Amino acid sequence: MSKPKILILGGGYGGIMSAVRLQKELGSDEAEVTLVNKHNYHYQTTWLHENAAGTLHHDKTRIMIDNIIDMNKINFVQDTVVELKKDEKRVILENQELTYDYLVIALGSDPETFGIQGLKENAFSIRSINSVRKIREHIEYAFARYNNENQPDDLITIVVGGAGFTGIEFVGELADRVPELCREYDIPREKVRIVNIEAAPTVLPGFDEELVEYAINNLERRGIEFLVNTPIKECNTDGVVLANGEEIKAATIVWTGGVRGNHLVEEAGFETMRGRVKVDKDLRMPGFEYIFVAGDCALIIDEEANRPYPPTAQIAIQQSYTVARNIKALMHGGKLEEFKPDIKGTVASLGKGEAIGKVGNKKLFGATASAMKKVIDNRYLFLLGGVPMVIKKGKLKLF
Ligand code: FAD
Ligand code: NAD
Repeated sequence: MSKPKILILGGGYGGIMSAVRLQKELGSDEAEVTLVNKHNYHYQTTWLHENAAGTLHHDKTRIMIDNIIDMNKINFVQDTVVELKKDEKRVILENQELTYDYLVIALGSDPETFGIQGLKENAFSIRSINSVRKIREHIEYAFARYNNENQPDDLITIVVGGAGFTGIEFVGELADRVPELCREYDIPREKVRIVNIEAAPTVLPGFDEELVEYAINNLERRGIEFLVNTPIKECNTDGVVLANGEEIKAATIVWTGGVRGNHLVEEAGFETMRGRVKVDKDLRMPGFEYIFVAGDCALIIDEEANRPYPPTAQIAIQQSYTVARNIKALMHGGKLEEFKPDIKGTVASLGKGEAIGKVGNKKLFGATASAMKKVIDNRYLFLLGGVPMVIKKGKLKLF
């Protein structure tokens, strides 16, 4: 009898950890497991804002896939998924087609642009190693041009659209990086504008007020300008247009205004909300008992708060454990488990040695929060590849 085929799409938190967990849960001859990913490396999406600002090299953020999974146990296919043929149990890649008995969709997210005119064409987003390398290079080149081109203000104006966690973490890194760029390119720091624009009445809407205040004070002191209650309504080659009609001219616009599930899921005809599938409690696609969804493509409801959990790496990682155990249960005829996220807290970095966070009921500020963030990152690396992975890729200097 042929072995069941398990196909995992996406090598981010949800996908690579599903592969790692299946490798542990299943005997080597039990199933044919295939992981498909665009690149031959896994990257930590949660560090991309550092690479975008240029405060951390992207080689620290990415890990070659053959350093994580046992290639004798799992087939790795480096290719791009272009279509999910849900009723035919087929997946079309750029260079081949694959079939499966069990499918794990873990393709991450796309930027949510809310149909804002010109955003897709003119703004950068913090999504992948390729996208953040471009942002870093673009900012540096704009600074390099400044003294060659009559010192136009827009070359050294950076607009960050959206002050959720991604926006805040990114401007925190820029607050560290820009003074270095100013020294490098002979530009007075006070001439540079970094403007973080937020539609809601406050930055980090919904987060603890005291922590938000700490973040704002800290970042303003380090030269970040905030505009709140100020939706961006248009983006063009010169900059952004705000809902109040004001224009801000900027050579660099980075959109951090939110995410939606990978477009391929919606395009396949699955029912989605902002591109995310409201999965069954066991993480299966409603109506498809052999398809699981993990990470940013999956929508799960926080029943206490009666709203979706925000998509996070924390949840994607936890889901991979349930996905692997449930696929094993399906193969063995066992009972499937329900996924219950165990939210340990939220910690957001504000740059080198600075962060804010809430872990349980405890609020963390400054160096303590920053050390906690590194502990969280190192813990993930430990789950991925044990102590050797922590030593190789971890952030070992906590303070
Ligand atoms: P991803 O990790 O994004 O992985 C998706 C994978 O699919 C990628 O490897 C991609 O290359 C691959 N892929 C995509 N399309 C295709 C295709 N067509 N074909 C083949 N492969 C494809 N969450 C936290 O919990 N804590 C944090 O501190 C935190 N910080 C963040 C900081 C930033 C800057 C950002 C942007 C997000 C942060 N998040 C954080 C959110 C977190 O990164 C996401 O929720 C998490 O990455 C989701 O995991 P995923 O596996 O669904 O997607
Ligand atoms: P988000 O949806 O959390 O925040 C987007 C922000 O953009 C919101 O505050 C929104 O009001 C604002 N916005 C939307 N439209 C706008 C407009 N037209 N003009 C100005 N502002 C506008 O998105 P995100 O920050 O990219 O985060 C995505 C997910 O990743 C979230 O679930 C988040 O929790 C997670 N994340 C977590 C961390 C962390 O835990 N440290 C870090 C980054 C991201």
